[in-house]
Amino acid sequence: MRVAIFGAGASAIAAAHYLMRKGISDITLFEKADELGGTWRDNRYPGVACDVPSHLYRFTFAPNAEWTQRCSPGDEIQSYMRDTAVKLGLIDKIRFGHEVTDATYTDGRWAVTTTQGLQGEFDAIISATGALHHPRFPDIDGIEDFAGLACHSARWDPGTDLSGKRVGVIGSGSTGTQIVAAVVDRVAQLTLFQRTPQWIMPLPNHPIEEEKRQEYRDNPAAMDSYYAYLADRFNTVFADAVSGNNPEAYEHMAQACENNLHASVQDPVLRAKLTPDYKVGCKRLVVSDTFYHAIQQPHAQLETGAIARIEPDGVRTDDGALHDLDVIIFATGFYAHSICHPMHITGREGISLNEAWNEGNVAYRSVAVPGFPNFFLIGGPNSPIGNFSYLMTAETQAKYVAELVSKLGNAEVQSIEPDAGVTRRYNAELREAMHGTIWTSGCDSWYFDPHGRVASYPWSYSRFAEDMKAPDMRDFKLVRA
Ligand code: NAP
Repeated sequence: MRVAIFGAGASAIAAAHYLMRKGISDITLFEKADELGGTWRDNRYPGVACDVPSHLYRFTFAPNAEWTQRCSPGDEIQSYMRDTAVKLGLIDKIRFGHEVTDATYTDGRWAVTTTQGLQGEFDAIISATGALHHPRFPDIDGIEDFAGLACHSARWDPGTDLSGKRVGVIGSGSTGTQIVAAVVDRVAQLTLFQRTPQWIMPLPNHPIEEEKRQEYRDNPAAMDSYYAYLADRFNTVFADAVSGNNPEAYEHMAQACENNLHASVQDPVLRAKLTPDYKVGCKRLVVSDTFYHAIQQPHAQLETGAIARIEPDGVRTDDGALHDLDVIIFATGFYAHSICHPMHITGREGISLNEAWNEGNVAYRSVAVPGFPNFFLIGGPNSPIGNFSYLMTAETQAKYVAELVSKLGNAEVQSIEPDAGVTRRYNAELREAMHGTIWTSGCDSWYFDPHGRVASYPWSYSRFAEDMKAPDMRDFKLVRA
């Protein structure tokens, strides 16, 4: 049995691990870059860190006593990804510099082609290419005309020296706020161009002392207990609060964000500019206990006027003012719904995934698509996303997918795909449940796909965990050889 995995980030590592646990070791990971790590390889902007505590943002199969901070910086997470891949023996299985261009299904086998040509046939393919992956540049006139350094946050060169520079940050999401807080003390002038304010949850970050790390080295069970505690807090309290399944926790969370704003920002004019007009949790919550302080520094400015255009010397706002800048950082997010783009995936009877998803990405429980036998996704359409550990989601899906793939090891089974009717009903139920969720309560966010549908998961995390415990084979079509 040969399995191809597209990507070599967290989802791919999880997929490879669970396949190997099933005894499937002929695995090839196709990675377009020259390094693994996905989002943690790409995002090296100042202040990049995970706002989920590190002892939760780790694979269950790779506990790590060495985290140095409650919420660790991006380079530490990237090292963890690499170390985990090395420990699993994955490095030799990765073909770096191979961007998948085509995958075509014929009679139980997928032919995979990358930018380096045809790579052979595989019994199953798993797309693990991540959602926050294709940088989105803003549609602003003159964006090409800027004479200084202009860069998307996910393409930042960490060697860039910002000291003494006039820096503009466009975008005030999780990324923009991290950048502002990280660079404010070293730049000459900082302007944050904010189109929409964000609710901000103050989660203090703090170092994990050597003594604590030694305790975790000596007693891994203590780390597991802490993981279980954090998982409970994030999944049954926090995630359920946002998905409407824990109203009491929601009120608590909303109050914490409002209190944070009022306690941190005294100037009523600035506070008004920073006050969202939508509910807490409608957009993905920003987590920071440093941003409000940073934006109140004397050389920092919050610009809320609309951007008219970008000129060689800086950004001109609608009121006619030119903001002179040396550097512009676009913290403007990603095309979060471009799953499997720009690949050509051709399933049974010549159906293309692009056509199948013409009106929006649809999958059976996020992991499989009718008409595409032996094709699976990690982080696929309507996966749980938000303020909790994506690694838990990826692992849960990877385990489930590995179970399905292992059924192909049985010589009698040539292909597995989800039933079209079951998939339709699942998605109808999902869309119905989406009405009335916090994400549809009156804001715009990257959760919305280009068709206006929210691509998140509307139910509780415990339902996700329960539903994904094991595949219900009645929902799948098996073709016997
Ligand atoms: P984002 O949440 O999509 O935010 C993009 C920002 O750019 C928004 O403030 C948006 O304004 C603004 N923007 C977009 N186009 C614009 C334009 N033409 N003019 C002015 N402003 C414009 O992107 P992100 O901050 O990179 O975060 C994406 C996701 O990555 C997060 O939600 C999170 O899931 C993940 N992330 C996680 C962490 C972490 O610590 N775990 C850190 C960074 C990112 P509007 O709000 O008005 O659209």
